[in-house]
Amino acid sequence: MGFSRRRLLVGSGALALAGLMGVSAQRAEASEELLEPRLVLKSSTDGRRTVALTLDACPGGFDAKIISALVEWRVPATIFMTGAWIHSNPTGLAAILAHRDLFAIGNHGAHHVPAVLGERHIYGIKVAGDLSAIRDEVGRGEEAILAATGARPVWYRGATALYSPAALPAIEGMGFSIAGFSLNADMGASLPAAVVVSRMRQAKDGEVIIAHANQPNRPSGFGVIAGVRALLDQDVTFVRLDSMTQSIASL
Ligand SMILES: [Zn+2]
Repeated sequence: MGFSRRRLLVGSGALALAGLMGVSAQRAEASEELLEPRLVLKSSTDGRRTVALTLDACPGGFDAKIISALVEWRVPATIFMTGAWIHSNPTGLAAILAHRDLFAIGNHGAHHVPAVLGERHIYGIKVAGDLSAIRDEVGRGEEAILAATGARPVWYRGATALYSPAALPAIEGMGFSIAGFSLNADMGASLPAAVVVSRMRQAKDGEVIIAHANQPNRPSGFGVIAGVRALLDQDVTFVRLDSMTQSIASL
């Protein structure tokens, strides 16, 4: 299956990126033809345990306490924003953009529409339906981020992180790399804080962690903060996804 061909190497001593394809098995609403791309960092040669924290800002609110903790501890992260979130969270957007040195911005689509063909719902969300609608979701999300930040995002993560196979080359054809993940820390901000911490503290070297920054009223966010703290206390290094793409481009 196609993702092994996308193994990308970066310069010596740096991180490499390997996209491995995994088919979602545990999501009851998703049938087997949907893909959940897996993304991991290749181990760095200096032996330090390194992970990437990614936070989705789907539609919803702004979990300011997570961003505050990351700023206080100088922890970089990649934040995937929807156009809808940008428009409804100007304060949150400003808080993130005040720390461009820490936070990279990824494209999470315009309206949080899954990049899935056909007529169905995933987690209650109506899917895009066809490739034209998928490109519209990706392109309008890109424009929203460009307007808000002045920079074009290079990573795309679709709503629900599930994709029809045909959606992946369509999105890549627009210049995006697909932002999979390897460790689901909060299951859509649905997990208790203690469970989130437990998952995060066990992150292996190279793990790409997904959590959410749009559910300030759920307990998961406290777990994300404690999980980051636990990893820092284990001397884990955090990187942003864009630091890798820059390395790849320089080859
Ligand atoms: Zn989302």
